[in-house]
Formats: sequence, C-alpha cells, structure tokens
Amino acid sequence: MNRRSFVKTAAGAYPLAQAAAAGSAAPTLETRIMRLNLRHTWTTTMSSSSYRDTLHVAYSRDGITGHGEGAPIVRYHEDAEGARKAVESVRQTVLAANPMQFSKLMAEVFERVKGEWAGKAAIDIAIMDWVGQKLGIPLYSYFGLDPKDAPLTTFSIGIDTPEITKQKTREAEAFPILKVKVGLATDEPTIEAVRSVTKKPLRVDANEGWKDKEEAVRKINWLEKMGVEFIEQPMPAEMIEETRWVRSRVHIPIIADEACQRASDIPKLKDAFDGVNVKLDKSGGMLEAYRMISIAKSLGMKTMLGCMVSSSVSVTAAAHLSPLVNYADLDGNLLIANDPFRGVEVRDGRLILPDRPGLGLQPRS
Ligand code: MG
Repeated sequence: MNRRSFVKTAAGAYPLAQAAAAGSAAPTLETRIMRLNLRHTWTTTMSSSSYRDTLHVAYSRDGITGHGEGAPIVRYHEDAEGARKAVESVRQTVLAANPMQFSKLMAEVFERVKGEWAGKAAIDIAIMDWVGQKLGIPLYSYFGLDPKDAPLTTFSIGIDTPEITKQKTREAEAFPILKVKVGLATDEPTIEAVRSVTKKPLRVDANEGWKDKEEAVRKINWLEKMGVEFIEQPMPAEMIEETRWVRSRVHIPIIADEACQRASDIPKLKDAFDGVNVKLDKSGGMLEAYRMISIAKSLGMKTMLGCMVSSSVSVTAAAHLSPLVNYADLDGNLLIANDPFRGVEVRDGRLILPDRPGLGLQPRS
C-alpha cells in the first residue's frame, strides 16, 4: 500500500475502515514505515541525512481510527523495522484489549516489549487518539488542559556551513525563538552566523558534544553573552557529576535530553540539571511522557517537550501535552516535505492545537 492509500484507509475512506464502521468487524491494527523527506539535510553531532523513516500505526475499532507514530532513535539502537516488529509482537495483545483500559493495555505492552520506544510510542499514540475520538474530546481536554496555555515553540537550525546557517535563520523569520544545534568544532562560527541575521532569543542544544567540563563552562558562559536562554545536554549523558560541576559555574539553565529517557531517570538528574526534555519517542508515548512531566515538576525542575523529525501525528500528540510545560521544541513536522497529515499548527511561533476529538488529525489531500 502506498502512503496515500494508507492515510486514506486509516482515515476511513477504504473498505477496512468501512467494515469497522458497520460495527461488526473485529478491531484492526496496521503498521507502515513511512519515509519522511527532509527539506534540508539535517546534521547534529550524531548523524546527517536527507530523510527519516518513522513507524506509523493505525488502530481501528467501532468505526473510529486512531493514528500513532514513533520515530526510532539511532542513539538507542533503534530503526523503523525494529519498531514495526515490536508492534507486531504485541498485535494480539492490542487487538484483544479494551482500548478504554489504555493504562492497563500500555502497562502490558511495556512489560512485554523491551526497548523499542518508538514502537511503543506508536501504539500509545494510536490508542490515545482512538480514546479521545471515542469520548468526543480533544486529547488536551482528556488531560484537563487549556490549549491557550500551549507555549511558543522553537524552530531548530541544524549544524551547517555559516552561509546555510544564515539562510536557515532567515527562513525561520516567523519563529520568535530559535534552537541552534552545536557541539562540533564550529560552535562559535555557527552562533555568530545566526547572530549576524537575528537578535531573537536562542536556545542551544549541544547533543552531548562537549567531553571536557572546563570547555563546557567556557562555551556556556560565551553562549550566555550571545543571548542564549538555556543549554541542552552539554555533556555526555553518563557525565552527570561533571554536569553538576558545570552547573555550579554557569548562569543559564541546563536541560537534560539524552540523559533523560524515562520517568525513572529523573530523580538522579535533579541537582545536575535544571530541567528535562521529554519526547514521546524516548518515553514510549503520551502516558509515560505525562508521568515524566509530573515527576519533574514535583522535583521543582523545568519541563520541556521536544520531538524527533516526524510527521504531524507524533508532533500533534506531544503538542496536546504542551500546555503543561515551560518550553516546547515541536517543529519536527515542519522540517519535512511530505507530511501525510495536518494537526497542530504554528502561528507566530505559538502552538495552535486542533479542537477536533482525539489528536484532531486530518489527512492532507
Ligand atoms: Mg536535544
């Protein structure tokens, strides 16, 4: 099945979903790996590529189709095929479950599937989209949130030559805050290139790029002078003690990303980081992401929602939780040229959540 027919099928235009709409059909679960083409080749300290493959899941029951997506993370040794196999391994569990008992269902999925966070996220999001549609409410309402509290989102600028960095900065004119990737030898020219074009607040992500704590302090203090609001994951995830040392010598918040995958990671980060970056692809979906945000807040830490390069399915799911957090970096769908859905939109940098039930997705024609 090609991308368009999968989207249409999942959206209810084809026989499978029509049969489900008749009320007599058994629930169905479809998996598909989608190749998302990037508008710009994307470089961070970890990789460089012109496309990303994500796993899409469509769960249909009672005439309603819920959509889910997970972006495999190379750092956790994941790929889209592994995510697909993980979902297939619990197919019968998912199909046999009562989706309204989604916490019980996802606990069982987490118990049975080791790792494969993208696969688990795709299931969780599809089920939660289905539940929201079944209840007839947008998912932000299910979580008791006010969509007007959704924060501004940053737009991310990957590592590139100074000329292309300037061009990307100009293209991001509509966004009031930018996130810039650093962590290679070119940090200063990159920031200077951005600053030559704009005075906007910047947030910087080093993606574990600095291995030396003295270097990290020097760079962070320089970044502060360049108008940077906070720094994400300056040092390798396991260097928590070194990061604590760095934190006592800098003045801007340090946010954990690679060091913080799941809820159980958060307590040990409390004194080394000011906040955590929560992503559905890392946590295994919305339910665990909600727990992570709750735990971080209870420890007095700042919270951020981020995303991988992905379509509007995953980004919209994260956006429904965004009224909870201090910072949002939810631009993964804006980096691709072939998004199959419309969901959350960005206006003047602000996240506009769809008010339709569930995730509120609509297929792009
Ligand atoms: Mg990051």
